[in-house]
Formats: sequence, C-alpha cells, structure tokens
Amino acid sequence: MDLGGAWVTPALVDCHTHLVFGGNRADEFAQRLAGVSYEEISRRGGGIRSTVRSTRALSEPELVAQALPRLRALAAEGVATVEVKSGYGLDLASERRCLRAARQLGEETGMRVVTTFLGAHAVPEEFEGRREDYLTLVCREMLPALAAEGLVDAVDAFCETIGFSIDETQRVFQAARDLGLPVKVHAEQLSLLGGAALGARWNALSADHLEWLDEAGVEALARSGTVAVLLPGAFFTLRETRVPPVDLLRRHGVPMALATDCNPGTSPSVSILTTLNQACTLFRMTVPEALAGVTRHGARALGLSDRTGTLAVGMEADFAVWEVTSLAELAYWTGVPLCRATVRGGQIVFQRSSQ
Ligand SMILES: [Zn+2]
Repeated sequence: MDLGGAWVTPALVDCHTHLVFGGNRADEFAQRLAGVSYEEISRRGGGIRSTVRSTRALSEPELVAQALPRLRALAAEGVATVEVKSGYGLDLASERRCLRAARQLGEETGMRVVTTFLGAHAVPEEFEGRREDYLTLVCREMLPALAAEGLVDAVDAFCETIGFSIDETQRVFQAARDLGLPVKVHAEQLSLLGGAALGARWNALSADHLEWLDEAGVEALARSGTVAVLLPGAFFTLRETRVPPVDLLRRHGVPMALATDCNPGTSPSVSILTTLNQACTLFRMTVPEALAGVTRHGARALGLSDRTGTLAVGMEADFAVWEVTSLAELAYWTGVPLCRATVRGGQIVFQRSSQ
C-alpha cells in the first residue's frame, strides 16, 4: 500500500460501547428540553425500559441492520476493534440475540468485535421487587448458557446506587470466575460506592467511568493493573461537573483508556475523534495520553494487548491512515473526515473514496 507519506497510527480501539440496541431516545431528549420531567418520562415508560422494549421487539437481523451504520461510522474514524455490551435484552433470548448480532456485525464489517455480557445492567420490569431472583437468573442461567455458546468474552456489571450493589456485583463476578471469564465494572459514575476497588480485588480488566473515584481507589487500580476507562461522552451528555481524577491516575501510573460509551441514553455518539477532543477539553488529558487511551490502553482494557493497539513486529496489522500534518489534529478537530483508511489484520475495513 503506497500511503504517500501519510501519518499512520495503530487502528483505534473503542473499548466500551452499548452499540447494539433497538430504536433511540431522541424523542425523550426533545421532551426533556421542552420541560417534561424525568419522572414524567419514566412514568410514560421512557428511559432504559423503553430501550429494553424496543430491543426485545427486534429480530437478530434487525438488530444488526440498526447497529451497522454505527459500527461503520466508527470504522470511518480509524476504529478496527470495538467492544459491544449486551444489557438491553435482560432475558436469555434477547441477550442472546444482541450478542449474536454483535458477532454478526464483526463478520459483516471485518472489524474485531469483542462481546461483553452485561445482564447486570438493570432489573427488568417483570422482576420489579424481585431483584434477587433476577440476579440468580443472570448468574445461574443466562451467563452459563451464553458463555457455553461462545458469546461472552468478558462480564460487566453496573455497580451504582441506581444499579447493583457491591455484594450483588460480587455475585456476578463470582459467576464469571466460575466460568473462567474476565470481568469489568461500571463504577463511581454517580457516587463513590467502591466498585473500582472491588474490580481491582477481582483483577478486573477495567473499571469504567470513575468520576467519583478517590485516591484509595486509584491506588487499588494501580496495584491490580486494572485499566481506568474514561467516558467523556456520557459526562458531556449528562452535563456532569465532577471530572474523573486524571491527575491522580496519572501520578499513580494507572493506564487510562477512552471510549465512546455509545448508548441511546447517555452517550448517543459514534465519533471516537469527538471522544478524543472531549477527553482533552473536558478532562485536560494531553494529546499523547488521549491517543494512548484509544490505542494501547484501549486494547489492554479488552485483554488484547498481545495483538492490537500498538505497531510492532508480531502484532496484527491493525492500523489507520490519516490526512493530517500532526497527530494533535486527531484531538483538535471535530467533524472533519481525517481518516483515509482503516486496516484490520491486513484487510481494509474502511477506505475514503478519492473524489
Ligand atoms: Zn457503559
């Protein structure tokens, strides 16, 4: 391939997405802005429950069709590896459809799609008041069945006051460990619950969000080698004001990854370059830190450091070709088509037409 002297980086890694879901929540977004309260929207069946309903209503090919443009948009910004979480099905058949759709998306695009089971995302409507029963279903039935079908690369839980407690998250982690699967955790997004330290104790691949993380939690991550995944898109959409402790993470040498967190509620974005820009402007990360966050640290957050995220002999040929004069441009512009081509394992998965 003659690249004419263009800049080349490792292909980018989007290590935290909820990219497979039905419908979208643009109407709710508009209603909120027009003054309808969250409680009222929730009473009308909105919020995550509306996404669960729309997701359950779709067949596997329909889920693939809705998610495909989102995945292609990521490829058009240099991404060759994407993690996709389940968690909008919340019953065995629907979670299976979502994970199978994610695998199918990898086949169709040639991108590397890594799947994470997030049955512990929310308690579905039909289990209202029976959360223990739902967790038992997640740990004893859903996870073992989906893992046996080869659909689960890692297991995640939404550890939050409005999600699952520390004890409940531990149950999920134990079920994952029993099956030999690595874990990840949504932690410290809205409060300091201790999910990151819990993840560190369980040698989690990553702890994600982390706005409320304290120094003890940072030290725990440093000791366990767990990657801190920062998600500025959700911070932006929710208009959060508490920034994750980037300085502490930096000082303790915790690897920081970045991801779009693409999801219909809090981060309706498939622009990893916007994520780079937000990490620099909102979290004051440096350009080299941001670039490492979507390459080698993103790969590490998925346990893929031995094959992608760096350009080196022995790695797979995953790289992106850029129309820039310096790499700082990748974090500087938003909305400019900077990527000329994305290559995964030596195969082109995106190429900008020349006209
Ligand atoms: Zn998430």
